[in-house]
Amino acid sequence: MASSTATRDAPDGDSALVKDLVIVGAGPAGLYQLYKAREIGLDAVVVERGGGVGGTWYWNRYPGLVVDAPSFDYSYSFSPELEQEWEWSTWYPSQPEVLSYLEHVAERFDLLKDIRLNTAVVGAQWQADEGRWVVELADGGTISTRFCVMATGCLSEPRAPEIDGVDTFAGRVLHTGTWPHEAVDFAGKRVGIVGTGSSGVQTLPVVAQTAASVTLFQRTPGFSVPARNRPLTEEETAEVKATYRARREQTRHSPGGLLFPPAEKSVFEATPEERQARFERYWELGWPVTLTYTDVSTDKAANDIVADFVRGKIREIVQDPERADLLTRQDYPIGTKRIILDTNYYDTFNRDNVDLVDVRTTPIVSIDADGVNTTDAHYDLDILIFATGFDAITGALLAMDIVGEQGVRLRDEWAAGPRTYLGLSVAHFPNLFLATGPGSPSVISNVFVSIEQHIEWFSDLFAHMRDHNLATVVATVDAQDDWVSKVNAVAARTLYPTAASWYMGANVPGKPRVFMPFLGGVGNYRKICDEVVTDGYRGFVFEPLDAQVPDEATARVADATTAAAR
Ligand code: NAP
Repeated sequence: MASSTATRDAPDGDSALVKDLVIVGAGPAGLYQLYKAREIGLDAVVVERGGGVGGTWYWNRYPGLVVDAPSFDYSYSFSPELEQEWEWSTWYPSQPEVLSYLEHVAERFDLLKDIRLNTAVVGAQWQADEGRWVVELADGGTISTRFCVMATGCLSEPRAPEIDGVDTFAGRVLHTGTWPHEAVDFAGKRVGIVGTGSSGVQTLPVVAQTAASVTLFQRTPGFSVPARNRPLTEEETAEVKATYRARREQTRHSPGGLLFPPAEKSVFEATPEERQARFERYWELGWPVTLTYTDVSTDKAANDIVADFVRGKIREIVQDPERADLLTRQDYPIGTKRIILDTNYYDTFNRDNVDLVDVRTTPIVSIDADGVNTTDAHYDLDILIFATGFDAITGALLAMDIVGEQGVRLRDEWAAGPRTYLGLSVAHFPNLFLATGPGSPSVISNVFVSIEQHIEWFSDLFAHMRDHNLATVVATVDAQDDWVSKVNAVAARTLYPTAASWYMGANVPGKPRVFMPFLGGVGNYRKICDEVVTDGYRGFVFEPLDAQVPDEATARVADATTAAAR
C-alpha cells in the first residue's frame, strides 16, 4: 500500500493524493486544525477555494468592516507566544487586521506548505470497504483520506437575490461577501446598496463619504448599536497580555465566548430610572443592549422595553422624522436577528447625498442598464452593491455533494433541516466532522472560542482512535435525534424562532425553517461535549482496525506516537 504522504495511481490513471486528514477551508478553523493535526502526527492537507488563507476574512473586504467581538478575544488562545507577540491596534478589529493576523499565523506556524489554494472541493464519497473518504476537487483531482474535517465556515456562501435584468446593468455590481481585492473608488459615483444587515450597515457610512449619492434599499431595518471602536492603549494591551490565560479561561466557560458582564435580573425587577441608566451605559460603551437583563431574549414584553430604547436613540439621531420612522419599523424582537455594531450609521441619514428607499412597501422589480426599478420609481446608479447575506451555516456544506454510508446523501438527510450530533458529526457519515456545524453554538458565540473547542475535541478523538487502534467512528441516529430535540427545545424557550432570520434559514427561498445554532451557551456546551468523552464517547460507534491490514499511514502515525512518547 502506498505511503500516506505520497501520491498513488488512481484507476483512471490520474494520480490521487492519499492523506490521513483532509481539511476543507483555510479560515480560522482550517488553520488551527492543520496545526493540531501535525501535533498528533497526522498527515493533513487543507484544501481552500480562495487564493489565500483567512476564510470569511479573505472574501469579505467591504469598506468599514469591523468585527463585532473585541480583538483580544477574537483570536487564537492556543499559543501564548502568538498572543504576546501580536499587537492589535483597535478594540474591535477591522477586516484587514484580522486577515493580516491569520496570514501571520499561517506563516508563523509554517502552515502554507500543506495548504492547496485555489482548489475547490465539490464532493466527498465514503468508501466503506476501505474506511476512507474520496474527496473530489473541482479540477477533477481526488484525495483519499481517512478523516475529513469540514472547516467551511458559517457565512461563506454569499447569496444575491434573483432580480430580472441584473445582467443588463451597465454599471458595476458588487457583493459585500466577495468584495474586490483592489480599492473601489466611489468618488462622484451614484451608488445603490441593497440590504441592511451588518454588511450594508457598515458599508453605507464609508461609501457616503465620497460617493455623489447613495441610495439604500431597505426591506427590514436592523437594530444597530454604536461600536464606539477606538485605538487600544499600550497600558490596556499590557494588562491583557499579563492576564491572558485567566481571560481565555473565562471566555471558554462564558455564555457567548466573550467577557460582557452577565445580566443579573429581569428587566421588570429594575425601576424605569435604573433601566434607563443601564441601557444608556451599554449604549455609551458600545455593548449589546440585549445583554442588560436576563429576560430580553425570552420575554417579548421585556424585549420590547429594550427595543423601544434603541428606537428612541434612532429617533434622537435621525433628523428627518420620515426616515426615522422607516428605520424603526423592525417587526421582530431585538436580538433575534443579529445585533449590528456600526460606526455613524444612523448619523449618515442626516447627509444630503443619502436616500433611504423602503422596498418592503415598494419592492425592487427589475434592474436595467441604468439602475434599479421599484414598483414606485427608477433609480439611476453607477455601482450596485448587494449586501444581501449568505446561505448561512449549511450553505457551504450542502454546496458539496457529500455521500456517506450506503449512498446516503447529506443533501437528502438535511432536506427538512440540518441534523447533527452535537453539531460535530452526522449519523451515516463516519470519520467526517463539522467545525462550528449546525447544532453547535457556532454563530451565537465568539467563533474563535467555538472553533478552538471543536478542533481540540476532534484532535483528541483522532488521538484516541490512534491509541486504541480504531478505524472509524460514527454518531448513532438515536444520539443525533436526542441532540436535535435538545437544540430545538432550547431554542423554543427563546424569542429567536419568531424572527425570519438567517439563523432560521429564512433568508433563502425554499430553505427549511429550522433554528440552527445551539443556544445553551458555549460554557455549557463545552461541558456536554466533555462529558460525552468521559462517558466513552457516548453516542458514537467505533469500528476497530483489526479487520483491516494496517496501511502505511496507520503505521506511520503509530511510529510518530512512539517517537513522541520517547
Ligand atoms: P444579512 O444579515 O443576512 O442581511 C441581508 C440583508 O439583505 C437584509 O437586510 C435583507 O433584508 C436584505 N435583502 C436580502 N434580499 C433582499 C431583496 N431581494 N430585496 C431587498 N433586501 C434584501 O447579511 P449580512 O449583512 O451580510 O450579514 C450576515 C451576517 O454576517 C451578520 O448577521 C453577521 O453575523 C455576519 N457579519 C458580521 C460582521 C461583523 O462582525 N461586523 C460584518 C458583516 C457580517 P430582510 O431582512 O428583509 O431579509
